[in-house]
Amino acid sequence: MKLFQCSNCNHTVVFENNTCISCGYFLGYSSYYNQMVALNPNLQEWNLKELDGVDYKYCANNLLGTCNWLVKKEQLGEFCLACSLNRTIPDLSDDQNFEHWRKIEYAKHRLVYQLLRLRLPVVSKTEDQQSGLSFDFLSQEDLDHASKGVKTGHANGVITILISEADDVIREQIKQQMEERYRTLLGHFRHEVGHYFWDRLIRDDFQQLQNFRNVFGNETFSYADALSNYYSNGPQLNWQTTYISKYASSHAWEDWAETWSHYLHLMDALETAYNFGLQINPKLTGENKLGMNATFDPYLEKDFKVILDTGIPLLFAMNSMNRSMGESDPYPFVISESVKNKLEFIHKLLWYNKI
Ligand SMILES: [Zn+2]
Ligand SMILES: [Zn+2]
Ligand SMILES: [Zn+2]
Repeated sequence: MKLFQCSNCNHTVVFENNTCISCGYFLGYSSYYNQMVALNPNLQEWNLKELDGVDYKYCANNLLGTCNWLVKKEQLGEFCLACSLNRTIPDLSDDQNFEHWRKIEYAKHRLVYQLLRLRLPVVSKTEDQQSGLSFDFLSQEDLDHASKGVKTGHANGVITILISEADDVIREQIKQQMEERYRTLLGHFRHEVGHYFWDRLIRDDFQQLQNFRNVFGNETFSYADALSNYYSNGPQLNWQTTYISKYASSHAWEDWAETWSHYLHLMDALETAYNFGLQINPKLTGENKLGMNATFDPYLEKDFKVILDTGIPLLFAMNSMNRSMGESDPYPFVISESVKNKLEFIHKLLWYNKI
């Protein structure tokens, strides 16, 4: 994630900040210009010369404290691009629902930020019913009224997230029960949107589908049978050599979504490192591959070897820093040669789509 500055006083601010604690100006994020701008707190609409001299206002969800994105004053609709993707949100009169939804919005805005940086199409289903994207954030009451078996997942451009996933205790319990190494809200978003972009970038493109099968295997095997086999018999033997996670070994679609989410982890970590000017020079003798210098914006880097050679030492250093704090590894995975090929496939696919 980019590191932002208040355009009024240059104070360092982060993506979610609504107000600059140094000068008291409001802060608004322009997703189009990828810029945070300071806003006069005495006004409700702003003519922003830093952007394009057009009048802007806050997204309607700013009133709820869950969004700091800007929308053009003359735009139809009250919501920003990220918030316009919401099809269902929980009943916010319930305080706990609100708290869960707030955390979900936090993760979702980071997801949308990254999709835009990857120059992927982000279009709401209200604009494109056929191939747009939307989110259903469901509470327990919603589930009680819905048909049985609704769970976090993706179907035809609709991503469903159970808001109980925003409850740290519940999420940690599921993580333990499922023997997972990693479970976060942002991770859920990254995984599920991977399924969506498989449909958009691969499903209907004959050549890409062949390329996909060469790397990830045949996705035409029964998905239902594959998952039921996974849940009754566990992951494939020696899954570590071929897959990034146990779950990725269940079916080619899940392998894709898992690997996609790791590609997004890697790119975000590298963008943050780049914005901090991180450099790693390990105190080791002899040749080592643990040094790195984050001198490039990963979203503009075409060579995947550069991404990987910088990203792997970064992830190792991140884990080591966390251990210094008595925390567990933020990236508890080993990227095998086979997984590197899969990540590279995604990187090249996204570059191919940019041209
Ligand atoms: Zn300021
Ligand atoms: Zn918004
Ligand atoms: Zn999945």
